[in-house]
Amino acid sequence: MARVLVVEDDQFVRSALIRHLTEAGHTVRSVGTALEALREVAHLPFDVVILDLGLPDLDGSEALKMLRGITDVPVIIATARDDEAEIVRLLNAGADDYLTKPFSVEHLSARIAAVLRRTRAAAAEAAPSSVIRVGGLAIDPLRRLAELDGAQLDLTRREFDLLAFLAGRPGVVVPRRELLAEVWQQSYGDDQTIDVHLSWLRRKLGETAAKPRYLHTLRGVGVKLEPPRTEPLS
Ligand code: CA
Repeated sequence: MARVLVVEDDQFVRSALIRHLTEAGHTVRSVGTALEALREVAHLPFDVVILDLGLPDLDGSEALKMLRGITDVPVIIATARDDEAEIVRLLNAGADDYLTKPFSVEHLSARIAAVLRRTRAAAAEAAPSSVIRVGGLAIDPLRRLAELDGAQLDLTRREFDLLAFLAGRPGVVVPRRELLAEVWQQSYGDDQTIDVHLSWLRRKLGETAAKPRYLHTLRGVGVKLEPPRTEPLS
């Protein structure tokens, strides 16, 4: 599914969006102003931004222009104004799609799916081979497939994200804080979340914390993934 940033100052609309998008399996963060939105996209990866045009701090087209200054993330405009001229102007200014309020959850989900299809197809075309290989692991982030020694791994969305993120930085100790931010899109959280997912992932990779092969936990520091050492002869 997708990492969604909801930019909406109306608390009621905002909680409804968060609830529905979360139920649809998306990871959602939300802010109420354009400036907060700029800070979010500057620091975290998103697949799509839902941008309300009536924000308290910046005019919609101004907000869009500034967003476009720092990121290519797809933006779906949500507007109460059924103003065709303005919508056309915003689409020309870099918006990917728009929704006129009030809109249904189904409508929003369909628009998100369409935008993701377009961007993922474009990404696949731009990078036909982006398979990450570490030892016997092969991870294809675009097709969301992972293999260990030629056998496909059956991973949950989060396990896959965690594995792909670590495998993209082999041998590098990734601090837990960074994992929370990058894989969970959370700026805080308890270590148990990571530990639980790591232990599930370990089981699927056929290893344990006591006898690690790929996944190494450095207590109090972070986690790293590296190719298994060859067993010393004894
Ligand atoms: Ca508003």
